Amino acid sequence: MITQDQVDRILRLNGNGLPLVSLYIPAEPDRTGRRAFLTRVASLLDRIQPLAEDRSLEHAARLSLREDIAKIGKSLEEEPHRPGAVAVFSCSGNGVYEQVWLPRSTRERIVVDADPYVRPMLGVLDEYYRTCAVIVDKGTGQVWEHYIDEARELETIRDRTLRKPNYAAGFAENRVRNKADELSKRHYRRLVGELKQLFGTGRFDLLVVGGHSYEVPVFTEFLPRELRDRLIGSFTVDRETATPEDIKQKVQELVSDHAHQEQRQLVGEILEAKAARRPSAVGLDETLWAASLAAIRTLAVDEGAVAPGVVCDRDGLLARSGKTCPLCGEPLREVPDVIDELTQSVIDDGGDVRHIEPETELRAHQAGALLRFELPPQ
Ligand SMILES: [Zn+2]
Repeated sequence: MITQDQVDRILRLNGNGLPLVSLYIPAEPDRTGRRAFLTRVASLLDRIQPLAEDRSLEHAARLSLREDIAKIGKSLEEEPHRPGAVAVFSCSGNGVYEQVWLPRSTRERIVVDADPYVRPMLGVLDEYYRTCAVIVDKGTGQVWEHYIDEARELETIRDRTLRKPNYAAGFAENRVRNKADELSKRHYRRLVGELKQLFGTGRFDLLVVGGHSYEVPVFTEFLPRELRDRLIGSFTVDRETATPEDIKQKVQELVSDHAHQEQRQLVGEILEAKAARRPSAVGLDETLWAASLAAIRTLAVDEGAVAPGVVCDRDGLLARSGKTCPLCGEPLREVPDVIDELTQSVIDDGGDVRHIEPETELRAHQAGALLRFELPPQ
């Protein structure tokens, strides 16, 4: 699982004077895909082999690169694969090796530099929410971290409760109940304090609350404004009997509903901007032209959209068809999926990419975008 800690660690990496290798490679889990994958790994590593032999580099740098090449090759051979992409950051001379699985495909590339090349990784991870799920129960609060398709328990907070609040009868019963309410209030406040701290570090984007149907609404009343703004929903669950898998499924349903709602909203914004003649692009041709000029702030592509097209290797122009580049006159290269090139180009230019999963008006247009500036005519 890729965790925030690992992402932070990667962002802080540097070669301390030695070269750092960053490698991205798309992965297909089936057998033919695996063979192709290993061929691609070997071919990418071959590309930096001359550097490892380059006498103008210091001995320590060459040695570190040679070890990187051997280690990456060996490690990816052993790695079981899931669909998506693998990113590796390696600097053997400093004992650095980080390998992460990304849930979406990226363009393959290998970069040797003083710093890790992180933009494709951040571009992919931008699409996923970090969700904090808290399961409340009298006297207990279980805090879970959900990210991409993984869940892990962070901590459990236990507070004192009265064991059997209904053993007393008559007059005493009220006092016992009041005492129990007092204790659960204290517990909820403590839990809220913990959540405030977790959200204060920027670790989470969203909050969901689970528990008994009679406890959840009482607890959410205790949430301060800043946490209530992050709350996307709640669910009913019995902490004693629910498995981590049950909880994960409930959280994922809420997160996915929320994501779809945001995606629909973005499509709405793009179409509205178009209607109001604000900088925007609707349709593949216009969106490709916008990306060619680095004009895209937020790109929306329909989840299933694939289209062949052409690219200019010199200036990054993207189009659906053509023989020569309208910007520089160079011959254009044909690609099987220009939408893949489009998303990579937007990430490289520092824009956001959103894949639109639910059926919206965008489906017919394939792609659209909010732009940084008005496009000149093509
Ligand atoms: Zn060109």
